[in-house]
Amino acid sequence: MEGMRNSESRYDVVIIGGGPAGLTAGLYASRGGLKSLLLEGESSVSQITVTDLVENYPGFPEGINGYDLVERFKTQTRQFGLTIVTDDVRVVCREQQAPGGEESWIVQGNRGAYSTLAVILATGANWRHLGVPGEEAFAGKGVSYCATCDGPFYRDREVVVVGGGDTAVQEALFLTRFARKVTIVHRRDRLRATPVLQKKALSHERIEFAWNSVVEEIQGETFVEGVKIRNLKNPDLSRVIPADGAFVFVGLTPNTEFIRNVVDCDENGYILADSAMRTSAPGIFACGDCIAKLLRQVVTACGDAATAAFSAQLHVEDLKGDSYSGRGI
Ligand code: NAP
Repeated sequence: MEGMRNSESRYDVVIIGGGPAGLTAGLYASRGGLKSLLLEGESSVSQITVTDLVENYPGFPEGINGYDLVERFKTQTRQFGLTIVTDDVRVVCREQQAPGGEESWIVQGNRGAYSTLAVILATGANWRHLGVPGEEAFAGKGVSYCATCDGPFYRDREVVVVGGGDTAVQEALFLTRFARKVTIVHRRDRLRATPVLQKKALSHERIEFAWNSVVEEIQGETFVEGVKIRNLKNPDLSRVIPADGAFVFVGLTPNTEFIRNVVDCDENGYILADSAMRTSAPGIFACGDCIAKLLRQVVTACGDAATAAFSAQLHVEDLKGDSYSGRGI
């Protein structure tokens, strides 16, 4: 790590994650004059980039495709000189310093190690799996976690969507562009999704519902042929729904495994951040879908990220001894 200490490879802030939160943090940090590096995952994509239509990000009255929105974010960050590197981060640890040296961190990726005074975690979350027989075996053979990616394969076919949240309902609506029938399997008798989405789905002629039902197995020979469900209230209604595709949208798992021994997380692995987006580790900030919070949206990710970058800036200025309050009068 000794070689990392030269000024070339030493950053004020390293941002981990290339989704809306990471890019917004990068925009604020680089525009704020910090020497900033954003590491975007090699083996992961931001969820928003596979979202067909974002209808609730202000400023786009017609809605905007998620991929296009992120490209716009990138264009804007580049105007302020943010360096973006593709690397999967494995470890974040304290950098050993000479006595009296600034407190800093090493972000260790697969391709390099990056020394930094502050870290912003913006690693987002990934789709949770059901963990039922057939799910893994038929992954890519009818089991999907991305309607935008795989929906067009199901033209005039029948598909099952599992889940009752915003993602399940929004993606079910998207799938009606292709599939002749979409059955939403939900474990309760009402949807969790926001009312505007519920209304569209409940009145859609090609969407059916299997209420109070859980998936027991995904069945087929080479490809998915059916989804076996169990009705939790009335076993007589348990059945196999004939389907060519099974789209699973049962929530998220935060991408925080690599950092759980460094910052405090809640019982589900979401990072605990205060209102200034500080984590339990001094110099590490967090924002977006990877933190414990009420509402996971692009707009809230961006808001958190602006705060995280500002807090990181104050932290860096404090360490360098050039903070406004530390300058005296
Ligand atoms: P979510 O809100 O956590 O919903 C997950 C759904 O899956 C719930 O209906 C849950 O059932 C069900 N579920 C969980 N585990 C299950 C299991 N093992 N078997 C069967 N069903 C299971 O997740 P999400 O829909 O992915 O949304 C994540 C976040 O992104 C939310 O904050 C959401 O508002 C946001 N989002 C917003 C939009 C939008 O605004 N347009 C679009 C997409 C996502 P229960 O209801 O019984 O818990």
